[in-house]
Amino acid sequence: MAIDDLPPLRAVIAEHGLSARKALGQNFLLDLNLTAKIARAAGDLTGADVLEVGPGPGGLTRGLLASGARRVLAVEKDARCLPALAQIAAAYPGRLEVIEGDALDIDPLDHLTPPYKVVANLPYNVGTELLIRWLTPESWPPAWSSLTLMFQREVAERIVAQPGSKAYGRLAILAQWRADAQIALTLPPEAFTPPPKVSSAVVHLTALPEPRYPADPAVLERVVARAFNQRRKMLRAALKGLAPDIEDRLRAAGIAPTERAEQVPLEAFCALARTLS
Ligand code: SAM
Repeated sequence: MAIDDLPPLRAVIAEHGLSARKALGQNFLLDLNLTAKIARAAGDLTGADVLEVGPGPGGLTRGLLASGARRVLAVEKDARCLPALAQIAAAYPGRLEVIEGDALDIDPLDHLTPPYKVVANLPYNVGTELLIRWLTPESWPPAWSSLTLMFQREVAERIVAQPGSKAYGRLAILAQWRADAQIALTLPPEAFTPPPKVSSAVVHLTALPEPRYPADPAVLERVVARAFNQRRKMLRAALKGLAPDIEDRLRAAGIAPTERAEQVPLEAFCALARTLS
């Protein structure tokens, strides 16, 4: 079933000569039922302001607009995509604003009313950097209420990982400290044109009104970075430089000094950050 009256994406790509460029992380989604499904993974979009990074030929953009988003701000680095996106803007008057530029340089608050939702099939080369920025704003709660983001599956698994798994690390702690995070759907390489080498997954993160456990963000960041930089070492060795009495502080946080970072739950890392603040 068609989600709108615009031409199929293959025709759009042919009309505008949008051959995919690897340097821009271009793996396009051409199945509009799939992009509508990703839009649904973002929850009820009726009346919502949405930031989309990297709309490309606009498959996900169309899914977002057809799902009832009040306003979509789409930031695209590749100028070749702009005419295709202009056609979508014309079909949804006043609801789509397209900015040509680098998402790393743009402040969505100049264009959207918070809290906005972020929905994107991210370019893999800047995906993790953007996620870390969204998770570490100057104050909490952030300007966004949810992030619905496509990543390489391996990155998605690191975001939702639990203690005791190889995927558990800095990204899991950063994400789960201030958000609920879950994998909403996984996609095989063939879902994209051209197909990437690996599978992908959509992660849905909802911002918590306040961090799950109290801790100073800078201290928690420092502790977690050190702990996982040397993840095979016992924490008393990995964290030695943080405080002369680090073993006592670990014990005060309920962590055995002989444990490794991979075993330590988020709550205990926060307790340790508090003893070091
Ligand atoms: N959303 C489209 C889709 O699902 O078919 C395209 C997704 S493609 C994986 C990533 C898109 O991000 C490309 O259109 C690419 O040109 C764009 N892009 C790459 N780096 C960017 C950046 N720094 N800022 C904004 N867009 C970027």
